[in-house]
Amino acid sequence: MRIKDDKKHMIIKTTFFPAVIKKSDKKNIALIGVGCNLGNCIRRFKKLYLFLNKHPKVDIIQTSIIYKNPPFGYLNQPDFYNTVMVIKTDLSPIELLNFLLYVEKKFGRIRSFKNAPRTLDLDIILYNNVKINKKRLILPHPHFKKRDSVLIPLVLKD
Ligand code: ADP
Ligand code: MG
Repeated sequence: MRIKDDKKHMIIKTTFFPAVIKKSDKKNIALIGVGCNLGNCIRRFKKLYLFLNKHPKVDIIQTSIIYKNPPFGYLNQPDFYNTVMVIKTDLSPIELLNFLLYVEKKFGRIRSFKNAPRTLDLDIILYNNVKINKKRLILPHPHFKKRDSVLIPLVLKD
């Protein structure tokens, strides 16, 4: 894979990103995709890190670099910041989804239209080797293997 690193594509390293953190006694492992393209995304990612770790059933195990990249789909919007986190959790897939949707809201996300700018997008990319195909929750997350916004942070974990 070719990793673009120019003005439009930038690899950012900062507090908590990337990081390898701690062992966990939680039973399940999940990969979370994080996206943002409104406001101060890096600051928000740091707050997100601290907030997620406060949940008694969620431990962040590892985080990647932050990858700044141009939007796709709806093009007339700011560049995206993307990162991924490996977590361990005692939440079920649907409980984890509900928690992440709550966190998106808490961090100011308003849903307007598909691919619209967002303060925070949290997707479950993988949850153990679970396969689910419901409208509300699809696992593994569709198309993640084709998305640089997931793959580049994934290979750049340090
Ligand atoms: P996208 O992430 O594709 O830009 P949204 O963040 O607006 O779109 O998500 C829309 C809906 O996608 C959510 O309300 C959620 O129920 C659903 N969804 C389906 N599968 C997943 C998944 N694996 N992770 C997160 N959301 C999912
Ligand atoms: Mg989403």
